[in-house]
Amino acid sequence: MKRLLACALSLLLVVSLLLVTGHEVQAKNVVEINITARQFEYEPNVIKVRQGDLVRLNLIAEDVTHGLYIEEYDLFLEDQPQDPVYATVEFVADKTGTFPFRCSVVCGPMHPFMVGRLVVEPNTTTPISLALAVFVGFGSLGYVYRKRNRFMEQAARQSQPKDLTSKFGWLYSLLKQRWFQFSLIAVNTFFFVIILFAGYAGTSLGNANFAIIFVWFVWWALLILILLPLGGRIWCAMCPLPAPGEWLDHRAFIVKGREKPRSLALKWPKRFQNIWLQNWSFLIVALFSGIILTRPLATAVVLSLFIVLAIIFSLIYGRRIFCRYVCPVGGFIGLYSLVAPFGVRIADPAVCRAHKEKECIMGNDKGYGCPWMEVPWNLRRNAYCGLCTECFKTCSQNNVRLVWHGFGRDLLVDKGKKLDEAYKAFIMLTCSLVYSLVFLSAWGDVKSWANLEMPGFIAYAIGFLLTNLVVTPLLFSLAVWVGKGWAEKRFPPVKDIFYPVQQLLVITKGLIFGTKEQPATGQAAAETAVTAESKEQGIPYGELFVNLAYVLVPMGLACWMAFSISFIFTNGVYVLHVLSDPFGWHWDLLGLKSVPWKPMATSVYPLIQAVLLLAGLFYSVTVGARLVGKYAMTAAQKVKLLLPVTVFLIGVAALFLFLHM
Ligand code: SF4
Ligand code: SF4
Repeated sequence: MKRLLACALSLLLVVSLLLVTGHEVQAKNVVEINITARQFEYEPNVIKVRQGDLVRLNLIAEDVTHGLYIEEYDLFLEDQPQDPVYATVEFVADKTGTFPFRCSVVCGPMHPFMVGRLVVEPNTTTPISLALAVFVGFGSLGYVYRKRNRFMEQAARQSQPKDLTSKFGWLYSLLKQRWFQFSLIAVNTFFFVIILFAGYAGTSLGNANFAIIFVWFVWWALLILILLPLGGRIWCAMCPLPAPGEWLDHRAFIVKGREKPRSLALKWPKRFQNIWLQNWSFLIVALFSGIILTRPLATAVVLSLFIVLAIIFSLIYGRRIFCRYVCPVGGFIGLYSLVAPFGVRIADPAVCRAHKEKECIMGNDKGYGCPWMEVPWNLRRNAYCGLCTECFKTCSQNNVRLVWHGFGRDLLVDKGKKLDEAYKAFIMLTCSLVYSLVFLSAWGDVKSWANLEMPGFIAYAIGFLLTNLVVTPLLFSLAVWVGKGWAEKRFPPVKDIFYPVQQLLVITKGLIFGTKEQPATGQAAAETAVTAESKEQGIPYGELFVNLAYVLVPMGLACWMAFSISFIFTNGVYVLHVLSDPFGWHWDLLGLKSVPWKPMATSVYPLIQAVLLLAGLFYSVTVGARLVGKYAMTAAQKVKLLLPVTVFLIGVAALFLFLHM
């Protein structure tokens, strides 16, 4: 089996290399192409030539100075609108494949996303992307079936976490110090002040401004590529946004300050005790990302708004109500933190049962009661533990631990699974696709619509919301419906396919009007599932749908990683520029301003993207196998249940491979 796996991986590597590098040939025809450049598109934006053609490109800038840089061919062109002579370059199209070209001269706020594609045929990208995704997707399903004892049995869901705080005493001592979390927040607050200043007072040109580069390039890439997959909610432990509200509420920075008695704080309405508000707040921010991600002022205004909201919520409701229920970032961090291998857990539940004071909830002179409204002795997954370390300080019984439980273990915990989280998974996956289309594709029209150009923006907004809230959930629901019918040899009613949208309407009505209808999901639904199964009624559709939606967490994270890799490698040089001149005031503090813009490792990063996407696909299928492990079915039935969902995942991976290659 190991040999088979090694062969498959080698094949994957070779094909990926071929996919991204192409091979050398001799020139055959001469092809001359005029490319018109205007903010923020090329026309034509896709150039097709045949392998071996001698290509002559003429660049004609229409409005402001534009450049054109072709990845892997390493060719630069630059043209000024007033220049009567076009910029021209000639080259032999000796490498096959698709090569992004992009503007190399800063030409406006959407400049980093002004891209086009040179396609040198025979272009094997699409069939190879599809073949790779099919190979890895079905191969993974075959693999989990072969290893069904390991993946598809209930026992596969159990594992013993390793206690890190007992093993590393210094870590335990560190987590108990009040200055520890404060120092992390203080460092980030320092950067945050620079970001706000740059946003309000710096240049309006996004890629010359510290606010845009450090928030949407550096912080985002760090969060998606490192902090989230390794540390879960570790960012929430050091985020400066809620800090002013907390300091005001506590009237203290480091030492234990005032703790408002719970009876005095206003109670957060029950109908909002979920992440639906976070789903909506993320959708709104993502919808306007064409503006927020490119205009420093917009970034500063949005961040200021978050701070003001966090202060208001802290003063009215106390604790981290804003982080847990409102913050658009907090919602997806919580969901993706289910992949992280670390978490806070209790060492011995019996100690908690015997300990009547419950200091972790009530607080004491060492620290505050859990600001995230978690109950430490009930913690089973990372989703809503903000890693604030307060319970390490308050627990006089030394019963709180930082544990290593392995990657993705929390995805298998039934407790807490709900439709709001499932929807978060759909929204994150769909938004990564939309971002790839808006920021990385060659379609200038889509960029203009996302940039609030009317009336295109209206159509874009409707399409964006429908895809996030209706199309993706319905497609996934169709996959679940087919799998359930096939596995149980009895198809559920067709109306079940519309389960997510029907529930969304009921819940939204409940959120707006305060009505009581709430879907039976989470642990209660899981328990119902077991009862219902024993009565041979099959698995309740809602429970199965929500449970399987968690396969989208690794896939979604992989899609975001692939997306982030592309802009970090292509626009990483701007980080050096803004370090030297953070506000675009023509400074050159570190002498880095003159480092020429050039994408890095253009032949390597698509390979990294391909590997990430395929690894995400493989991992999602293995998670799916573990998720269905609890159902009373044979392994063959479980494969049937998973097969349509695997096809859905293959479609996602193939689409992203196509977009990124
Ligand atoms: S204070 Fe410690 S021992 Fe007491 S209930 Fe909380 S975690 Fe358990
Ligand atoms: S359980 Fe609560 S107090 Fe403990 S680290 Fe998590 S958020 Fe903080």
